[in-house]
Amino acid sequence: MRAFALLSTVALAIWGAVAAPLESSLERRAATVYTRCTTANTAALTFDDGPYIYLYDIVNTLDAAGAKGTFFFNGNNYGCIYSADNMARVKYAYNHGHQVASHTWAHKDLTTLTWDQIHDEMWRVEQALVRIVGAYPAFMRPPYGNYNSLVLEASGVRGQGVVIWDFDSQDSLGASAQTSRNLYNNIANQRPSTILALNHETIETTAHNVVAYAIQRLQSAGYRLVTLSECLGKPAYQSTAAPQTPDSSWRC
Ligand SMILES: [Zn+2]
Repeated sequence: MRAFALLSTVALAIWGAVAAPLESSLERRAATVYTRCTTANTAALTFDDGPYIYLYDIVNTLDAAGAKGTFFFNGNNYGCIYSADNMARVKYAYNHGHQVASHTWAHKDLTTLTWDQIHDEMWRVEQALVRIVGAYPAFMRPPYGNYNSLVLEASGVRGQGVVIWDFDSQDSLGASAQTSRNLYNNIANQRPSTILALNHETIETTAHNVVAYAIQRLQSAGYRLVTLSECLGKPAYQSTAAPQTPDSSWRC
């Protein structure tokens, strides 16, 4: 043990001498892509494309069931995240213990963009979340689930994991509420160890006809409905601080 410790010390000293030039390449390693939860018996309900008018109903439904959800917010998709209504919605989700994350700024297909354009889509919504609730998100879901090596590298530089899903309620594909409920029923019957579910905050039937059913069905199948952070066992945020005070620079 002692010899090993000494060798390790020598090795570390040598490594320290050569490590510096490698650091920049290490920092630019591609982001990890998460397609499923890892904590057994958890299900993470995720809601994309908001903040939008159904946020309160979704949060209240989650809260009433003792469930947590994760919201992948855009900055300027269905509306500007800096409108008074949308800032209140973002705060409501965050203050009720749900996770907030990035769905990037304007819901562009990131695989069609340049390196600089990708970062532009990313930092704008990160800045908005830091301003509005003080949280710098650790996770990003690319619009349409589309990514390439450039997107992964950009996410890696920004310290973010890339999140996809392993279950789709198909609400954004035009599925009826009954179809989405059937899909939840089927997955609950199949009973995989974990579920990472894609939903959309912007679809009225999801908010009013699907989420309550999905929660009830998954809970009765023995799942804990948790944030993405909890289902992965990883921090939700790279940093948290107090919300900032709006000024004229907060605009879309
Ligand atoms: Zn989306």
